[in-house]
Amino acid sequence: MPADVPLEAAHPQPCRFCAANGYDAELCKFAHERPVDTVAPLATKLASIFQQRTPTDEQVGYFMQDAAAIISDFDPLPDVWRVRKLPCGVDDEFVMRFRVNDVTYVVEDAEGYNEPVRLATFRQWQRESEVLR
Ligand SMILES: [Zn+2]
Repeated sequence: MPADVPLEAAHPQPCRFCAANGYDAELCKFAHERPVDTVAPLATKLASIFQQRTPTDEQVGYFMQDAAAIISDFDPLPDVWRVRKLPCGVDDEFVMRFRVNDVTYVVEDAEGYNEPVRLATFRQWQRESEVLR
């Protein structure tokens, strides 16, 4: 390594949203492989709906992994993300329902971290597991 490269530049840093949650560079990469500039706009939108209108970096950080999962469903990526919260019933099998650019997403009510998944995909998984039974 050339002597003039600062030590910080030689080491990957977590993005500021992951850093706000105490993540190191490795956890940041685990949460979202895509660049922060790709993931943060949708994570910010999600945080502004599920946390508060002007979310903190920490609150945006909660949604980086969710945003990365959603983004992987969109090709090409839209210019603008539109997110709308949908109501969940008391006995709902999901803890979150929302629409992203007119596609319904759900988060399953189950142990641990569950990535948001398209409702249509979730129903297809259910049908496939019925067939296997
Ligand atoms: Zn990050």
